[in-house]
Amino acid sequence: MPTKTFRFFAEAKDFAKQHAPAKVLREGGHFVVAWEARAEVDPDPVGDREVKVLREELHAARQDRERLIRRNGRLQDQLNITEQELSALQATWHEDFKVQVEATIESCKEQKRKLKQRAEQLESQTDQECTRLRSEREEAEKKKSAYQNKYKELVEEYQFIIRSLKDRFGEFRVLDEVKEHQERFFCSRCGGDGNDGNCPKCDGTGWEERIVFDKSKKLETDANRN
Ligand SMILES: [Zn+2]
Repeated sequence: MPTKTFRFFAEAKDFAKQHAPAKVLREGGHFVVAWEARAEVDPDPVGDREVKVLREELHAARQDRERLIRRNGRLQDQLNITEQELSALQATWHEDFKVQVEATIESCKEQKRKLKQRAEQLESQTDQECTRLRSEREEAEKKKSAYQNKYKELVEEYQFIIRSLKDRFGEFRVLDEVKEHQERFFCSRCGGDGNDGNCPKCDGTGWEERIVFDKSKKLETDANRN
């Protein structure tokens, strides 16, 4: 507890008033004031001018804050609108994309169905063609076999005839023989009218002679061999 000593009671009393609660004690010829020390709380630690400035600054800061809050509100509204628009766009985009994908899938399915149908058609055609070719081949084999038999028969018949003829008439051979003879044709120059007796090729006769060759077979026997 702090104390202060005064010479006169009036002074001590004034001081004690200012520092109430305080006690005034008498010590010898002096007066001692003892008071309770309290944490000094200055209700107005700064001067009026500074308070005014601070208040103005506080006021400006509050206004700034209000403005910022309003601006934030407006921005929030804009953000909400933008989010709604985005959401709508996404929904539309999803819908469009879905429609496109579904169309593509349908188109692929249709293509696949057509290809499958075509493959089945081709397979069926191939089967038919194979069957037809097999049948034609069998037919051809039969014909070939029949011709071979016929040929064999003819050869045997021919050999039999040859043998019979040789038994009866002796050895003989069949030879190729070429004979020639003359034949009359219309003149190749005047066409046969003789050009009024003036055609130099046919001397106006309208005819010309030409040698014609004939190929034939000739039987050569021991009797007629040269
Ligand atoms: Zn002539």
